[in-house]
Amino acid sequence: MENIEQLLDFLAVPRYIVITSHRNPDGDAIGSSLGLYHFLNKFGHTVRIIFPSEFPDNFGWMPHSDNIIIYDNDPDVAKETVERADIIYCLDFNALDRIDKLGENVADQNVPKVLIDHHLDPEPFAEYELSDISYSSTSELVYTYIELSKGMKELDIDIASCLYTGIITDTGSFKYSTSPRLFRVVSHLLETGVDDYDIQDKVNNSYNEKQIRLLGHCLSHRMEIIPEYSAGIIVLTKGDYEHFDIKRGDTEGIVNYLLMMRNIKIAAFITEQPTIVKISLRSKGDFSVQEIASKYFNGGGHKNASGGYAFKSLGWMVRQFKKVLPEYAEALSPYN
Ligand code: 5GP
Ligand code: MN
Repeated sequence: MENIEQLLDFLAVPRYIVITSHRNPDGDAIGSSLGLYHFLNKFGHTVRIIFPSEFPDNFGWMPHSDNIIIYDNDPDVAKETVERADIIYCLDFNALDRIDKLGENVADQNVPKVLIDHHLDPEPFAEYELSDISYSSTSELVYTYIELSKGMKELDIDIASCLYTGIITDTGSFKYSTSPRLFRVVSHLLETGVDDYDIQDKVNNSYNEKQIRLLGHCLSHRMEIIPEYSAGIIVLTKGDYEHFDIKRGDTEGIVNYLLMMRNIKIAAFITEQPTIVKISLRSKGDFSVQEIASKYFNGGGHKNASGGYAFKSLGWMVRQFKKVLPEYAEALSPYN
């Protein structure tokens, strides 16, 4: 962010600040938003967080999480809050359509916007951009933002616990997207007294019985392997959603089980939602699913974790995914 000085000048007086992040917020969306909240709050600003939709229960322990405004639940409060904003921070997403209707409200507000994000090709809607795909997570970028703001002396256990949560979410607890820089950042976060064991336990050991039974169902009855393209697919139908009473977040992480097989290089998790069919894509190593998500499924994301959707049937999505595979035959060949 070259123009950070200008931003810091703007923030030299108390402001009404809105922080927003993407729909179906994950640990990084929540952790980066709350981490930034606790930081900005120290400077006398009034800070509000708005998410388009609810977040999973296993993040409910995070300090201040119960004050987050959810657009789906309180659209009027959310709109009024955006209208009051002097400045809007957009965290962990690269395009305004990732925040649903809230995106229109944000676009309509003629106030400075700050983008802090680690996705490819951000839409140019923000005056201030801290966008870098080499970062593990938006939470790691919020740490850098604090550094650039010369605010490191404000780093405390609340900020650090939130950022640590975002980092473990987006790195699969340090399995991917890691770097020497990340471990230096995490080392500093832990120095504030963060209870890393406790956070790992609260974030990762959070399944209930229903979710584990659903996982069993997916692996026993809904999984297909296509060995010639090193591909695995899991599909969930509307009937499954009713039978298992699946709520948002219950299916989190299921797609990763496909990658636990040595020979699988690409994994797809396809779900039938009320109006759309959603695809979650994962890959290992150098093979990128980002291009497939943007080219064929109105989506995007990261090299090894992307997603998209279509206003089509479940069957269409499965057929379309299978049709795309031959285009990448060489990279996906089990002999390469
Ligand atoms: P998930 O598969 O967990 O829903 O999403 C994985 C990643 O893919 C997310 O972090 C996000 O970057 C990206 N992603 C998922 N769904 C969409 C989508 O519909 N549009 C775009 N642009 N990106 C998506
Ligand atoms: Mn993220």
